[in-house]
Amino acid sequence: MREKQLTPLFVGIALLGTSHCLPAADPAHPDQPIVSPAESISRLEEGNGRFNAGNLQHPHESREERTYMASNSYENTGMIFLGTTAAQAAKRRAELTKSQHPFAIIVSCSDSRVPPEIVFDQGLGNLFVLRVAGNVIDDHSLGSIEYAVDHLAVRLIVVLGHQRCGAVKAAKETIAAKGEAPAHIQSLVAAIKPAVESTLNGDLDATIKANVKDVVDALRSSTPILKGKVDAGDVQVIGGYYSLDTGAVTFLDKK
Ligand SMILES: [Zn+2]
Repeated sequence: MREKQLTPLFVGIALLGTSHCLPAADPAHPDQPIVSPAESISRLEEGNGRFNAGNLQHPHESREERTYMASNSYENTGMIFLGTTAAQAAKRRAELTKSQHPFAIIVSCSDSRVPPEIVFDQGLGNLFVLRVAGNVIDDHSLGSIEYAVDHLAVRLIVVLGHQRCGAVKAAKETIAAKGEAPAHIQSLVAAIKPAVESTLNGDLDATIKANVKDVVDALRSSTPILKGKVDAGDVQVIGGYYSLDTGAVTFLDKK
């Protein structure tokens, strides 16, 4: 995606253009702007590129912010998006008191080194995020995801694993030792166990990616809501892998 980052100003104009061209809503969600899965992936890739390059902009997409971005130098743009003016911040917060229009659902690990809003350079109202150690899901997570898909019209779900995940490492070691983790941590080990067992001869990275795939598959086949929408092509579920070493997110199994 680096070739797309000709200049931050270019990115800003691209964001303005793509947002502007989106269909306003679909009949099932007349009050929700619809962002296609492909457009959502593109926004995440662009944001991770900015994060990686140290050009965080915290895009919010209000008219004032876009206008400012298109008409000011990159240096000032960076400052305005990091700090934003009091008036712009107030406007954005006011918009979000009425409704939210996140464009992606992110299921990620609780690890403090992988906050989705930062690694994808997104602002208030952009991402609908679920975080649990080992990026596993339970009924509460599924209910939250179903809400975002059904009521907020979000079309993309990303399951984001990461390099050197402590939860996956602990699961691998606990199962290898035929032991049991203390207290409720065992529930995480149990959730990650299928990935451990399918990668017994693999390294930690192999298990991390297998665990992402397991969660992706679970979401794609979840009934009664998600499976039907995935099968119909309305919702896309993909995996992602965040490298602590490089700051880059690689999307896995895009289809
Ligand atoms: Zn982790």
